[in-house]
Amino acid sequence: MPTLFIGHGSPTNAIEDNKFSRAWADIGRRLPKPKAILSISAHWETSGSRITAMPRPATLYDFHGFPQALYEIEYPAPGAPDLARSIQKALSDTVIQLDSNWGLDHGTWSILCHMFPKADIPVLQLSLDFNQPPEVHYQLGTKLQDLRNQDILIIGSGNMVHNLSAMTWQDTAYDWALDFDTRLADLISSGDHQALINYPSLGEDAHRAIPTNEHFLPLLYVLGLQKQTDNLTYFCDNVTLGSVSMRSMMLFEAHRSTISK
Ligand code: ZN
Repeated sequence: MPTLFIGHGSPTNAIEDNKFSRAWADIGRRLPKPKAILSISAHWETSGSRITAMPRPATLYDFHGFPQALYEIEYPAPGAPDLARSIQKALSDTVIQLDSNWGLDHGTWSILCHMFPKADIPVLQLSLDFNQPPEVHYQLGTKLQDLRNQDILIIGSGNMVHNLSAMTWQDTAYDWALDFDTRLADLISSGDHQALINYPSLGEDAHRAIPTNEHFLPLLYVLGLQKQTDNLTYFCDNVTLGSVSMRSMMLFEAHRSTISK
């Protein structure tokens, strides 16, 4: 199964027909149908790792002041409690708590409602442990590798460049955001994971582009999931709202995956 990092941007992408929502719908059509989806969203940070384990995860409206239509969207995908338990068991050297309180936050459903509008594939979320440094998030990604062989689609949902205080409500991009986004893409393309894990040492622009790292960390899971034989493609490479990179990527094994053109 391929694995994806998706730049999710504004929650309003859930209800808009735009270049981002269209790119997500397109990638959903091209993927083989997964048995389940494991989403690692920027919007679920916890002390210690947690995995959703309820049979019916609720659609969470974890934002304020957006159009009413957004609060009326339901993404009624089932959960997969058995799969949550087997992931917990398989990651025996990492303590993962089964969670019955969270659900699907907008980092997950705002993209899945375009990718898989039928909401008929079970969805789980894995939280970001805010006590852990970037290296540990990357390592946890490597330990999820076997799920790809079980036809489980793992999605990291965040934004590679994400500075809310510099954000402007226009489809525009600051030069520094564009430059840093390109720099990250170069590092990803050249497979320099160590430089990405140690992103604070990328200089002044790193602090501007990643002032807090919850939107960046989901990328490290996806990089951890990368196999030697994977191909890499970017299916979105825009920067919008001044300081938000929507760059999205797919890793896939060309000789095995049934990715359609
Ligand atoms: Zn977000």
